[in-house]
Amino acid sequence: MKVRVGIEGFSIDSAHYTLSSPKDNQLHGHTYRVTVEVEGEVHEENGFVVDFNKLRELIKEAISSWDHKFIVPRRDMDKISITSPFKLEVKIIEAPYPTVEYIGMEIAKYVFTRLGSNFKVFVKIYEGSDSYALIEYP
Ligand SMILES: [Zn+2]
Repeated sequence: MKVRVGIEGFSIDSAHYTLSSPKDNQLHGHTYRVTVEVEGEVHEENGFVVDFNKLRELIKEAISSWDHKFIVPRRDMDKISITSPFKLEVKIIEAPYPTVEYIGMEIAKYVFTRLGSNFKVFVKIYEGSDSYALIEYP
């Protein structure tokens, strides 16, 4: 029997833009709230699908590279140049758009590749208070 366990309450603050949206093509920021669920069999030797402590550390790793970053698709990197007195760390996303859909997919893929193929990973990621993407990986 499959059981799904999860941890909620993570968040990322990032800047991005979405060239595919006339309203959102201005550089702006979001707080992304992240919940990660993992589905698998309960292991008889410990009673866990996955140890919450292990899962919490994995999620922290997965989201840390996105926090307080300017998220830019690789294909746009050579079109951007900013000089500033502030610190500017860019997170390159291997996707055509730096949308919540693709950010969520990257987080799901990160967790999945470290847990192994016996699991299915679900990521729910909110962009703002009422809009979200729900990713099932793979
Ligand atoms: Zn946005």
